[in-house]
Amino acid sequence: MKLLQDWVRRQAESRPEAPAVISGDRQLTYGELEACSNRLARLLQASGCKRGDRICFAIPKSPHAIVALLGIMKADCWHVPLDTTSPPLRATKIVQSSQPRLVLGVAATAAWLEETLAALDARSPLQLGWLDHSPMAIRSVAPTFSGDDLPRCSPEALDQQNGADDPAHILFTSGSTGEPKGVVITHANVIHFVEWAAKYFDIQSNDRLSCHPPLHFDLSYFDIFAAFSSGAQLHLVPPEMSLLPNQIADFIRNSQLTQWFSVPSVLSYMAKFDTVRFGDFPSLKRLLWCGDVLSVKSLIYWMKRLPRVAFTNLYGPTETTIASSFYTVPACPADDKEAIPIGRGCDGEQLLVLSHNLEPVPPGEIGELYIRGVGLSPGYWRAADLTAATFLQHGSKENCRIYRTGDLARMGSDGLVYFVGRADSQIKCRGYRIELGEIEAALHSLENVCESAVVAIPNPDFDGKLICCAYVSAEGKKNLSIELRRQLGRLLPAYMLPSRWMAFDKLPTNSNGKIDRGKLKDFFLTAKTQLPPARMSAVHPPLHE
Ligand code: AMP
Repeated sequence: MKLLQDWVRRQAESRPEAPAVISGDRQLTYGELEACSNRLARLLQASGCKRGDRICFAIPKSPHAIVALLGIMKADCWHVPLDTTSPPLRATKIVQSSQPRLVLGVAATAAWLEETLAALDARSPLQLGWLDHSPMAIRSVAPTFSGDDLPRCSPEALDQQNGADDPAHILFTSGSTGEPKGVVITHANVIHFVEWAAKYFDIQSNDRLSCHPPLHFDLSYFDIFAAFSSGAQLHLVPPEMSLLPNQIADFIRNSQLTQWFSVPSVLSYMAKFDTVRFGDFPSLKRLLWCGDVLSVKSLIYWMKRLPRVAFTNLYGPTETTIASSFYTVPACPADDKEAIPIGRGCDGEQLLVLSHNLEPVPPGEIGELYIRGVGLSPGYWRAADLTAATFLQHGSKENCRIYRTGDLARMGSDGLVYFVGRADSQIKCRGYRIELGEIEAALHSLENVCESAVVAIPNPDFDGKLICCAYVSAEGKKNLSIELRRQLGRLLPAYMLPSRWMAFDKLPTNSNGKIDRGKLKDFFLTAKTQLPPARMSAVHPPLHE
């Protein structure tokens, strides 16, 4: 397989009537998916989009969005999905950085796009395309096309100029400097993983796969292309269900899913609210998670209820494409002290546990985790220094690039790799990857903050972390927590907003004069029972917990 979209063409040729994408009562067959995306690709090309152009799309997960990402690839362009639930000002940074030829939207995101594009440098040339039937001008830019123009374009397949090593998309993740960083992912990167996964999990045309993550998460590309490579059905999980565990359980039952894949917090949430019955989900064959640690307590809950289902832990960062290692849990753990490994490399990938000198550390000892192999991104978008600092040359052989994950791990005596934690201040919160530095950079841009620091502590009520903000206000003793949270909400997505706040007269420092983050964590950990030396502000309830 050369390009990701080739899978859809192959299915459309052999099984055009087979359902491909299902979203509520809307459904697209493989034949329709192929024809609609060919039409869109032609419209993009007629609008001047050329090989290598970036196209941002502000389309929430829907059949439209799947057509958009295929159409963009068929026009030999790269797609850059925008998170339409994030503040427009953050999306502006992504549009500014990726310099798209065109931005694709739908009526539902028009107001959000208007705000996002309003903050752009006015001289940036920009074209707009609407996928539905509501052409609107934004920033006084007349739309280049709307969905009304699609039927005029031929549904026939186009010749492709791209090759497997050309980028398919750029995914922006949290950046510690305050600027989101773009990870460039090629067609070959995704194809390698999907080919391994389709074989390992034995995905067939009668499979019905969930698509739970939003499309700006790389995990969604596994769902989409694992389904398309096998001619299976892709069932789009409505985003609003994420906080409604009973509805997710109903969705799995009613859609008769054979595979569920999500971040662990969804599984823990469902376990917490005891939404799974014994022997539930009779169609389900496998349950996979990636992106964070699944607590063994939650795993036991699931494995006891679904004894016939296979449970697989997938591990990997966006920079090495979807996942790089796997571990299928052989039997329900005896107790929640058992460690679940992240396993061993998928085909063509290798996990290395290395010391500071890039030497392998002995089994059992903790080292930094590096990844080598076919999933490695070519690097960060227009960030050569960052790319050089994290994608290193290791050894003299060909294909000797390794990616420094920033994760700590140990190699077990069983030859499997165990995740231990992070070597830096990146955290995972309900599956979202967050650099605490990005939150601090946003806080520093606020006028009424003199000094601030952000730390994460374990969440006592749920798996994962609580983000805590310590600040010194410019207005003396005034408690500004509520106001600061409001201002921060204009700069950062909701999942990055600290849920605990403390006002200080001065932040604690260590003997080097640096902010003592360990002490700050202690203040927040004991905040309910013991006041820190400075005044303590209201503790906000966690946003979604
Ligand atoms: P992302 O780029 O959003 O996929 O985040 C990658 C990071 O998530 C990794 O570097 C790990 O810190 C964490 N991660 C991913 N998968 C797992 C897993 N199965 N277990 C523990 N941590 C994980």
